[in-house]
Amino acid sequence: CRNLVLVLGDQLNIDSAAFDGFDCEKDSVWMAEVAEESTHVWTHKARIVMFLAAMRHFRDALRKKHIEVHYRQLDDRGKRGSLAAELEATIKKLKPQQLILVEPGEWRVRESLINEADKLNVALELRTDRHFLSTTEDFAQHAQGRKQLRLEYYYRELRRKHDILMDGRDPVGGKWNYDPDNRGSFGRSGPGEIPDTKRYSLDATTREVMKLVSRKFPKHPGKLEHFDWPVTAKQARQALDDFVAHRLPEFGQYQDAMWSDEPFLYHSRLSTALNLKLIDPREVIDEAVIAYRTGKAPLNSAEGFIRQILGWREYVRGIYWLYMPGYLECNELEAMQPLPAFYWTGETEMHCLSQAIGQTLDYGYAHHIQRLMITGLFALLLGVDPQKVNQWYLAMYVDAVEWVELPNSLGMSQFADGGVMASKPYVATGKYIQRMSNYCSSCRFDPSQSTGEDACPFTTLYWDFLARHKKRLQGNNRMSMQLRNLDRKQPDELKAIQEQVVELRASITPEDVTL
Ligand code: FAD
Ligand code: SF4
Repeated sequence: CRNLVLVLGDQLNIDSAAFDGFDCEKDSVWMAEVAEESTHVWTHKARIVMFLAAMRHFRDALRKKHIEVHYRQLDDRGKRGSLAAELEATIKKLKPQQLILVEPGEWRVRESLINEADKLNVALELRTDRHFLSTTEDFAQHAQGRKQLRLEYYYRELRRKHDILMDGRDPVGGKWNYDPDNRGSFGRSGPGEIPDTKRYSLDATTREVMKLVSRKFPKHPGKLEHFDWPVTAKQARQALDDFVAHRLPEFGQYQDAMWSDEPFLYHSRLSTALNLKLIDPREVIDEAVIAYRTGKAPLNSAEGFIRQILGWREYVRGIYWLYMPGYLECNELEAMQPLPAFYWTGETEMHCLSQAIGQTLDYGYAHHIQRLMITGLFALLLGVDPQKVNQWYLAMYVDAVEWVELPNSLGMSQFADGGVMASKPYVATGKYIQRMSNYCSSCRFDPSQSTGEDACPFTTLYWDFLARHKKRLQGNNRMSMQLRNLDRKQPDELKAIQEQVVELRASITPEDVTL
């Protein structure tokens, strides 16, 4: 074999740079399912199925194009357990002249494959990942000389560079940002009828993977009975069309809202297809622009959605590669608490947490505000070790790939990077959750109480968090109003809150780290 093209589980794109110059007569493809990728964090069953089912469909699509694929299945005999070990065996057998690999999405995987090639003395050509609209070098250049990085500036740069929603040099509609229009809640009347999401029937390949995962990983968290994610490029395109036609128009206004037993609301559910590269972000952005230009979606929705993909998605990738590997170790707030056991079961009296975690177990999905302002916020206020928080998010979401998961969990939600991702810790009392959802109306706690039997744990922990970190946060202008409110608390009241926190901590069972 001349070139052996390595295709990882999140690189399922036939148009990627990996296939540039591919010659079916001389070159072949290597793909491997390995247990390590499902066990290095205690991975949700649906996440394992998502990756394996999409990989097998991609393998079959390549073979249809007469591309030779050396594919190792999880249940093949003589499995070696890790990507590096599998690759070593294939290299020894095929003796390729060169390995070709598109930049992986995870530092750990990148290092292990580079080391393996080095060890076996085979040339490895690393190619740029064209899936993204900007490169890691573009981001590093943008970051150079800046005291502080902010999404807004990078996003505007990319809007101009790619001429997306632009009127010459200015943004269409005259404003870059429609955030104030995009913080709506459903009020008392609720969301009414939410358009159903596109459903997929499970084919034999996906069903076989589901059986395999149930057999091999029976104790892993999460359920499979609701598994309903696009696993091919064709299905990903259908998911996009369905979203643009039925949910994009309301996406903007309700992107931060939450409602009991409504896991998807007006969100796109496209992150998994995007992260596995089943769909190109340009295609997604183009459809949102067309929907706006043809009057099918208002500007605040189209812009709000494009901001997530052209803005946040590119930005967090830039942060990840700029700060890795040190980023993984950040712990600015010196948080050391264990993760509560209920993060793996959803069994808690706090209704918001039981909803967000419950739907995560059911679907491997929660939308951004549930991740940031329910599960993330509680861990931040409690002071959970950010490593544990990171591992939980990496394990539990079908769309979790480290380059996007880590800056979001460790940076945006836990402030462990000391302000690289977010200009301040995203902290709030239970009243924020009450405003944005109907969770509190079915909860035994009261979000306006910080002490006593009915006190909402979020509210109690919020004041304790501010008091514990007051010194560190004092220099941050964006925290001044919250700290002023803290200063208004009487010493007795604060003492009672802190006593309640001691009781609250004692009542929470930590996760079983032996699992
Ligand atoms: P929509 O709300 O429809 O948004 C559209 C798209 O924008 C998403 O598909 C996604 O590709 C992109 N996007 C939105 N927000 C972000 C963001 N903050 N960063 C990067 N891209 C974004 N996203 C992941 O893809 N994988 C993760 O592992 C992941 N972990 C997260 C962990 C935490 C603690 C938080 C706060 C956020 C995390 N996110 C992650 C970002 C975001 O929550 C998900 O992308 C989104 O909920 C996916 O659902 P959706 O496709 O319906 O998104
Ligand atoms: Fe969550 Fe507190 Fe509201 Fe209960 S009262 S749902 S714990 S925010």
